[in-house]
Amino acid sequence: MLNVENIRKDFPILNLSVYGKPLVYLDNGATTQKPRVVVDAITNEYYNVNANVHRGVHFLSQKATELHEQARETIRAFIHAKSTSEIVFTRGTTESINLVASCFSESCMKEGDEVILSSMEHHSNIVPWQMVANRKGIRIKVIPINDQGELLVEDYKKLFTERTRIVSVTHVSNVLGTVNPVKEIIRIAHDHGVPVLIDGAQSAPHIPIDVEELDCDFFAFSGHKIYGPTGIGVLYGKESWLDRLPPYQGGGEMIQHVSFEKTTYNELPYKFEAGTPDYVGSHALAVAIDYLSALGMENIHEYERSLTDYAMKQLQQIEGMRIYGTAKDKDAVISFLLGDIHHLDMGTLLDRLGIAVRTGHHCAEPLMHRLGIEGTVRASLSFYNTREEIDSLASAIKRLKQMF
Ligand code: PMP
Repeated sequence: MLNVENIRKDFPILNLSVYGKPLVYLDNGATTQKPRVVVDAITNEYYNVNANVHRGVHFLSQKATELHEQARETIRAFIHAKSTSEIVFTRGTTESINLVASCFSESCMKEGDEVILSSMEHHSNIVPWQMVANRKGIRIKVIPINDQGELLVEDYKKLFTERTRIVSVTHVSNVLGTVNPVKEIIRIAHDHGVPVLIDGAQSAPHIPIDVEELDCDFFAFSGHKIYGPTGIGVLYGKESWLDRLPPYQGGGEMIQHVSFEKTTYNELPYKFEAGTPDYVGSHALAVAIDYLSALGMENIHEYERSLTDYAMKQLQQIEGMRIYGTAKDKDAVISFLLGDIHHLDMGTLLDRLGIAVRTGHHCAEPLMHRLGIEGTVRASLSFYNTREEIDSLASAIKRLKQMF
């Protein structure tokens, strides 16, 4: 499937030792490590190309513009969008969702209208909606989950009223690993004439994405979680929707003509890209995506699925283990607690053994309330992780259990 031994050589950081122990990096849900080609692309662009993009007549500006716009095309192809007009560069998933929440509510929502979210959303798919809800008197409705961490689709259907204007849900939960049936969720919403935003922060790095096949209206993801640099992300939007929405921020790039009497806005996608874009980041993100495409997203998905199954089996064998998120369709994220060991103690002690995991509420406090806990330990996997690393995690947990 994948030659993981060779792949690991592309990620220099994986050779680090921490506290004299080989690093076992299992915090990929928070951010992924970068292959050498991505870091080289950044260095190379700053050394050999750097110039501000668009409207530049000189050689370097044209070259930088070419790389930036080629990156848009690489991303378009990666998620199977129809046109590069539908690919908006943002700072990340958070900014992409804020953009939609702000622009959509401004133009398409009135007091008393409703948005549907789910109880497993990351704060970045809750708070932007709350902010506009408070401003405009919009109601937020929440899709409940079962104890396995799966969305209750029958309950979801019942949330629709004639005031429902948009649905915004995560594709994959960053806590439970649940892969939501987004195609069905979108079809149901469309039956009510309601558009859907998919938070793809935890799906785009792991699952082949086809926005046309999903038929989602908006799709958001972050560069840094998909082996690219920090500070760049993507908002996909159907052209018909992006056309209808007002601009998000004002400034250079997003205008056609400006006078003190009247300003006209630029065409898509530039209408949503005020100011100098992160053109080095966009190119490096495209290099990351080319790297993934060369490995094959199907291969990545298959390998990570089998690694997740293996990890689930290893961890479930440990006495006192409680795993949060046992959905039938589950991907690359395992949240757990052991006995009455506090998640922070577990995370800190695992770190001393060289194992990087995340602890806490994972920016999903409403989900923690639903689960009746304050936080979990979370191991989140990548295609560069190995069964040996999972074994290290399992034996470290067993060791810590004895200590307590
Ligand atoms: N949604 C989900 C499901 C996430 O896991 C994250 C990051 N943890 C975000 C949104 C926010 O992503 P970013 O911080 O890159 O904007």
